Amino acid sequence: MTLSMVSLQNVGFIGLGNMGSRMANNLIKAGFKLIVHDKNSDVLEMFSQMGVPTKKTPYEVSEASDVVITMLPSSAHVIDVYTGPNGLLHGGKLIRPWLLIDSSTIDPQTSRNLSATISNYILKEKKGDWEMPVKLDAPVSGSIIAAEAGTLTFMVGGSEEALLAAKSLFLSMGKSTIYCGGAGSGSAAKICNNLALAVSMLGISEALALGQSLGVSASSLTEIFNCSSARCWSSDTYNPVPGLMEGVPSSRDYNGGFASKLMAKDLNLAVESAKLAGCKYPLTSQAQEIYTELCNGGHDTKDFSCAFRHYYSGMDEPLDN
Ligand code: NAD
Repeated sequence: MTLSMVSLQNVGFIGLGNMGSRMANNLIKAGFKLIVHDKNSDVLEMFSQMGVPTKKTPYEVSEASDVVITMLPSSAHVIDVYTGPNGLLHGGKLIRPWLLIDSSTIDPQTSRNLSATISNYILKEKKGDWEMPVKLDAPVSGSIIAAEAGTLTFMVGGSEEALLAAKSLFLSMGKSTIYCGGAGSGSAAKICNNLALAVSMLGISEALALGQSLGVSASSLTEIFNCSSARCWSSDTYNPVPGLMEGVPSSRDYNGGFASKLMAKDLNLAVESAKLAGCKYPLTSQAQEIYTELCNGGHDTKDFSCAFRHYYSGMDEPLDN
């Protein structure tokens, strides 16, 4: 089989929220013809005013697209958009798009189940000798800023051949793609990345707050971490202490960045996956509890580095400290 005859020209995009709207804009800038849908009519109106065709249902998007990308909040939303009434797969066993890419952060099991469902479908029009639609799970690493700048990293599970055929599409929205293996592997990689991130952010926050209580400033400790074995992204690039670093969420009252509620969601996915896989998950479970507590305490929309202030009661340090 070969994918040399496939078209990437007409791209359906569903889920035009914080991430999706920016990814869609980058595809438009790169010259792809977009057809969009979102259940939020305001955002559809915004795209319509930019001259982008909008559709009322996922199925209408599917009927007009060679490739469909989804960027939705959670597994339930993705299942609804694919298999719900007027969903992408609504029209019997025949489907127009040869490629369906889901970039939402969802559980690997749902990604695998959807791939299995789609493998029973047939293309309305054969593309060369290619007659089956393909699904890729391709969640992203990178925040809203990376989505805007087109510097996301895609973690991709499914057919490697399809990934190669769609490379130009991915590279219009991101700086790299990493192939992770069969269906569901991209989703699995994403939740493992975020579990490691949550634990390292909490570890750095806990150590910095303890240091302050013992009389060592967070600025001194950060300087030590950053030239020692504790150095990590949470200490040298995304420091959680207000006043230590400019241009990060901690320097703007934890606004912008990656919301605690999204981190809590990803940790829930990691816990469920660990249970299913029969793996131990003490740190994931503890991190899940901390982020759930932060969300219940009203910090759900604040960046996840707010654990330093709102969980550990760490103190701000003025920039001139
Ligand atoms: P968001 O809530 O801002 O956007 C989701 C969009 O999907 C909204 O516009 C909503 O109206 C639309 N939607 C929901 N259900 C729908 C349906 N049934 N039909 C059509 N449209 C529907 O979310 P986001 O921040 O853009 O995140 C999207 C995904 O990306 C999530 O899975 C998230 O975990 C992941 N992610 C987010 C970030 C981030 O920094 N925000 C970073 C990496 C990954």
